[in-house]
Amino acid sequence: MKDDGCELEMFRHEKYRWTRLVRFSADCPRCGSNIELQPGKPDQQYPLVGRCVESPHAHVYSFDRMTLKGAYLGPPIISATAAK
Ligand SMILES: [Zn+2]
Repeated sequence: MKDDGCELEMFRHEKYRWTRLVRFSADCPRCGSNIELQPGKPDQQYPLVGRCVESPHAHVYSFDRMTLKGAYLGPPIISATAAK
């Protein structure tokens, strides 16, 4: 059991208060390595981002805790096919 990528979230809604454990796990689309939740600072504007363990500053993804989906945030990918 691996606890990396877990985030404890606190919700407060009037009288209601509960905790929810969110488990986030994904493979980096760029290189196939694991993506872990990390603080976005200092290089990203989001407080929490998904970072590839192999390239934590190049393979960066947004993290939407409601949909558990993200978008690529890192520097532009330079590839041979895109250059055409
Ligand atoms: Zn990667």
